[in-house]
Amino acid sequence: MSDLVLASRNRKKLLELEALLAPLGYRLRLVSEFSNVEPEESAPTFVENALIKARHAAAVSGLPAIADDSGLEVAALGGAPGVYSARYSGSHGDDAANNAKLLKELANMADEQRSARFISVLAMLRHADDPVPLIALGAWAGSILHAPRGEKGFGYDPLFLDPESGLSAAEMTAEAKNTRSHRARAFAALLLQLRPS
Ligand code: IMP
Repeated sequence: MSDLVLASRNRKKLLELEALLAPLGYRLRLVSEFSNVEPEESAPTFVENALIKARHAAAVSGLPAIADDSGLEVAALGGAPGVYSARYSGSHGDDAANNAKLLKELANMADEQRSARFISVLAMLRHADDPVPLIALGAWAGSILHAPRGEKGFGYDPLFLDPESGLSAAEMTAEAKNTRSHRARAFAALLLQLRPS
């Protein structure tokens, strides 16, 4: 088992990532074990924000690090909330307020105008100055419901309809979400890079 520092404080996200990483032989450590300082996710792209977080985690721990930067893109809103997904309503991580704002923004839009996708970018660094970070992208296409459904998951899950199952992401079991989510897909892409060819 090798130690890998996860640059996330979102416990639900952590549980998802833990389940995906365990089979790879990585023992996950939390960045909070090493530092309480949170880097500013100030970049305009998921890729740069994932790198900022992974680099910070590697720097404070002296260990290899992985970070996920993720969000929801709604086509009719020009890709919003995008990199601002966690703080769409103003305060960081207020899922209820973010969902309420999203519903309000889409209030008069019909089903066919409500397409959206979750995006996850994973960045993995061997050390803080790693000049060759691994970057992997995953997307999960679906649409935004007219009202929340389901109690599981986190963030925008109650509003995100998975077209294949007909379930909202918050109605899916963790296992089912992990087979098709943006993070699972980013992991699959990362795996291809981690496995020697
Ligand atoms: P991050 O922690 O900066 O990557 O922010 C990601 C934000 O995007 C979260 O706070 C959620 O609002 C949203 N998000 C990302 N992944 C998911 C997911 O799997 N379900 C629901 N919302 C998500």
